[in-house]
Amino acid sequence: MARRKLVYEGKAKILYEGPEPGTLVQYFKDDATAFNAEKKAVIEGKGVLNNRLSEFFMVGLGHVGVPTHFIRRLNMREQLIRAVEIIPLEVIVRNFAAGSMAKRLGMEEGTPLPRPIVEFSYKDDKLGDPLVPEEYIIAFGWATQQDLDDIVQLALRVNDFVGGVMYGVGIKLVDFKIEIGRVWDNDFMRLVVADEISPDSCRLWDMETGQKLDKDVFRRDLGNLTDAYTEVARRLGVLPTNVTHATKPTLIN
Ligand code: ADP
Ligand code: MG
Repeated sequence: MARRKLVYEGKAKILYEGPEPGTLVQYFKDDATAFNAEKKAVIEGKGVLNNRLSEFFMVGLGHVGVPTHFIRRLNMREQLIRAVEIIPLEVIVRNFAAGSMAKRLGMEEGTPLPRPIVEFSYKDDKLGDPLVPEEYIIAFGWATQQDLDDIVQLALRVNDFVGGVMYGVGIKLVDFKIEIGRVWDNDFMRLVVADEISPDSCRLWDMETGQKLDKDVFRRDLGNLTDAYTEVARRLGVLPTNVTHATKPTLIN
């Protein structure tokens, strides 16, 4: 079997060349990083769960008319995606104050925001993904004003969909981050949701208890991360089978 060509290895995923031009295979690793990769760990099963959860949300978004890079899941850890030109921004949507926003503004975590707030960070690990105003994005040519308007609309549609689905299973979508990519059909460019949507890239709190069910469990040492992600997957009905137990062969007679 021919070895696949590695395209990029990141902190949580690996991209390989896909079977057809314009496609990639996205492999979900068990690696967890936080605080700009200062804190690292391997968390068994995380990649399998994120592969499933990202599939679940990308497919759902497709069904409500939001374009994504997702083509199909290949196996427990891999999915086939469209290769896109990633816009070097982390697009963050916030419904409640938390994390860096709460810190920056001295707000209590969990304070409801008057409306969803969309903000942008420049995707650069060395710089620690700094927050950037729209003015910078346009001036430096990372995206046009038209792109930004479309990106905000996309991000808000993702927020409505993911927030609604989470509400249905008793989880509050506090905030999340997505990446947006450009797909070219000849001279025509479209923006699609890329990268992943998973508890690695969202803040998810149990509606009743406030228990954290996202990567903050790892960032803040609040317990077992796989347990938290498994709980999210279980509630959404997307628990992968055959993950935890090695099943014995069964005799058929
Ligand atoms: P990083 O450490 O850079 O965040 P990840 O481990 O998250 O990397 O790996 C995913 C990488 O692949 C990211 O750099 C992301 O921008 C990129 N990516 C995600 N989806 C696509 C896509 N559809 N086409 C091309 N690149 C993508
Ligand atoms: Mg990433």
